[in-house]
Amino acid sequence: MSLFAAPLVVLGIMLTGTSVVSWQSQQHEQRLSRAYLETSAFLTATYSAEHATLQMIRGQRGYLLTGQPRYLVPYRDGLNEMDKSLSRLLAFARAGHGNRAEVEQLGTQSAAFIAVQEEIIALARSGNRGAAMKIVLQDRGRAAIENIRTLLSSMRKVDGAQLAKIRAQGQTNQSKQRLFFYLVSLTGLALLGLTALSLFAVRKVAARELVYREQLRRLAETDELTGLANRRELIGGLKRTLSDCERTQRDLAFALLDIDHFKRVNDTFGHPAGDQVIRAVAEVAIACTRGGDLVGRIGGEEFGIILQDAGVAQAYEVCERVRQRIQSVPIMLADGTAVEVTVSLGIARRFEGDSVETIIERADAALYQAKHSGRDQVRLAA
Ligand code: GH3
Ligand code: MG
Ligand code: MG
Repeated sequence: MSLFAAPLVVLGIMLTGTSVVSWQSQQHEQRLSRAYLETSAFLTATYSAEHATLQMIRGQRGYLLTGQPRYLVPYRDGLNEMDKSLSRLLAFARAGHGNRAEVEQLGTQSAAFIAVQEEIIALARSGNRGAAMKIVLQDRGRAAIENIRTLLSSMRKVDGAQLAKIRAQGQTNQSKQRLFFYLVSLTGLALLGLTALSLFAVRKVAARELVYREQLRRLAETDELTGLANRRELIGGLKRTLSDCERTQRDLAFALLDIDHFKRVNDTFGHPAGDQVIRAVAEVAIACTRGGDLVGRIGGEEFGIILQDAGVAQAYEVCERVRQRIQSVPIMLADGTAVEVTVSLGIARRFEGDSVETIIERADAALYQAKHSGRDQVRLAA
């Protein structure tokens, strides 16, 4: 669990960090683009103010030299433009662009400049061109113009510096964001790797468990000595086959096989030899039956055989084959000793409404008869 928890916590922190940095970055982008727009509008206003002064001077000079009122048109335009530019610059200054004191100074300087221009035009209009020319020659408006220019360029510089600062901030934010993204990707990759490893491990454990379960199931169903179905499995099989055959109205026979005088085998050759004999008998029973039949060890030296789709004659034939084989071929022990044994079998065929108990009971009765009639024989239940 902690294997997953640690990277998950780290990933969580990284994602939160990334979200915060992304949000900051987005905010900053917005601020930056707003600042760009405002700065360019501010710069336009400063250039416009400068243009206005030139416009006014041009109009004033034209009127002074020619006396033609049409020169007053550009003059008035310049005046208007100056007025508008000043108001805009003032609004910008209030919003934090440039220096407010400088904008106010700009207002004072422009007023001075305009006053000089107005005086020249008024004198020219009243026919006193000599006096007007005198003002021009004295260069009285010059200082105001220079001041206006200096102020405007200083404003531009301040705003440019602000812009550079915002840009630098943006770069820092971007590199922070990039670092977070790298870390998140790395943590994600590590987590992915861990998940893959864990999945692999889990699958391996699951596969092993499946094998263990299968082994357990086999152990629970199998007789240890012979490898045949054990009593439980045989009875279960008989129950299933009985109900199957009853449903489909098919033949079924059940046989009980018991080794004759087995006690003697044990007594003569020893218990381990008896085990070998039990195994050999099991092998013969398997060899003589068909694939669909089921041979199981009921216990001791007693076996049960489920003969599917077998009528009485067929069942008898199979059982006889088993009996004859065992009777005719001595069992060879591991030490080379040949042991001769015989077996007795009792067969019961399926009757309508038979249960596991009733069919086994009849097979047992038939086996009892075989034993009491001299052993080494097959008997059919009534
Ligand atoms: P019958 O012909 O009447 O069947 O006589 P029997 O001697 O075969 O029958 P009985 O039931 O008297 O003896 C069965 C013997 O089988 C007794 C027991 O010691 C032996 N036996 C039971 N299970 C095993 C086993 O797993 N291995 C060996 N070697 N002997 C077993
Ligand atoms: Mg016996
Ligand atoms: Mg017995």
